[in-house]
Amino acid sequence: MATLAVAGGTPVRTKPFPKWPIFDEREVQALREVVESGRWWGRTPGSKVEQFEQAFARYQHAKHCIACTNGTTALYLALRAVGVKPGEEVIVPPYTFIASATSVLDVGAVPVFADIDPTTMTIDPQAAEAAITPRTTAIMAVHIAGRPADMDALKALAQKHGLALIEDAAQAHGASWRGRRVGAIGDAGGFSFQASKNINAGEGGAVLTDDDEIAEKVWSLHNCGRSRTGEWYAHFLVGGNHRMTEWQAAILLVQLQRADELHAKRQRNAAYLNSLLRELEIVEPLPDDERVTEHAYHLFIFRYFPERMGNVPKAKFLEALRAEGIPASPGYKPLYREPAFSKEALDWHPYARHCDYRKVRCPVTERVCDHEAIWLTQNILLGEPEDMEDIARAIRKVRDHYRELLA
Ligand SMILES: *Cc1c(COP(=O)(O)O)cnc(C)c1O
Repeated sequence: MATLAVAGGTPVRTKPFPKWPIFDEREVQALREVVESGRWWGRTPGSKVEQFEQAFARYQHAKHCIACTNGTTALYLALRAVGVKPGEEVIVPPYTFIASATSVLDVGAVPVFADIDPTTMTIDPQAAEAAITPRTTAIMAVHIAGRPADMDALKALAQKHGLALIEDAAQAHGASWRGRRVGAIGDAGGFSFQASKNINAGEGGAVLTDDDEIAEKVWSLHNCGRSRTGEWYAHFLVGGNHRMTEWQAAILLVQLQRADELHAKRQRNAAYLNSLLRELEIVEPLPDDERVTEHAYHLFIFRYFPERMGNVPKAKFLEALRAEGIPASPGYKPLYREPAFSKEALDWHPYARHCDYRKVRCPVTERVCDHEAIWLTQNILLGEPEDMEDIARAIRKVRDHYRELLA
């Protein structure tokens, strides 16, 4: 008789993990306040959008915060504001959500992929340096899963070569590097408040920066090229309408009140789960780094080593794990393999149309995507210690009975 659930056995658990989003009467009350105030637009003095900008800048240790429609737009605005121009190159890791790279295309620039470090899954600073050409003007550091990229090395690299450093912090609310929260460690950073993110309003975004000039430029670009002090119909830059709504800010202000507690809980559960995974041989947690003083754990990523379990492919291992009641997922593919990076899909782009992304090879990213990386989403870390034990128990069970998968 089979033991593994995928082969007909009894699953380790059938209980669901915590639901997301988390909300109560306070969100309803906040929306009601906006309705009844009649002030539905965010760019009025004292608005909830303004209140959120101040609160989020404080939360994330930044001087300026400009709220906007979503994270993709936040990255676009950050790139424009630091001065990236059409035809220039921006170095981006291929192990990330597609917006890290399409935001570069949106400003007319060309994403150049640099491989990641297999133990942190963030951009490898040496690979980034090797990717620099005379056309490079910026590096995009992606804090994937909520783990800060190596900001010491990337800042030094940007300084050495005179490049702008943008942070894609869409997954990194509350994450800190050497005690400083991310987002404005580089020149500018983009956040997302999309439904899956640790602080969310369904949709939403923000740009953070410590630089006064960049902040003014982002503000102008997100508001039709206006200036904060200029007349309504005075447009100084070619901007767009990327303003956050008052509804989004109302929800975000309440979500922010919950952020500390949930952030602490994710970190506690992740530390416990890491300690459990260390004993399982076939998988390994990502190593701690004392410079990563807070990990946001938007995702909990661990590595699976098929060769330690009879070469059972990652997809098969995942299927078995899911059958045991653990909703683990395979994560990203290397971005340059997406059809969006084919010649046909890039034929509209004046510069990227000349690139052949089929020739790109980032072996670490490919190995991680194809064989190693396994994801658990942040809501799973909002359970109790027993839930973490179930995850470890399920992995151990699949390991002990993997021969049932070979049949
Ligand atoms: C979610 C996300 C984005 C884009 O944010 P949206 O609000 O969905 O536009 C960008 N980069 C990363 C790494 C993300 O996870």
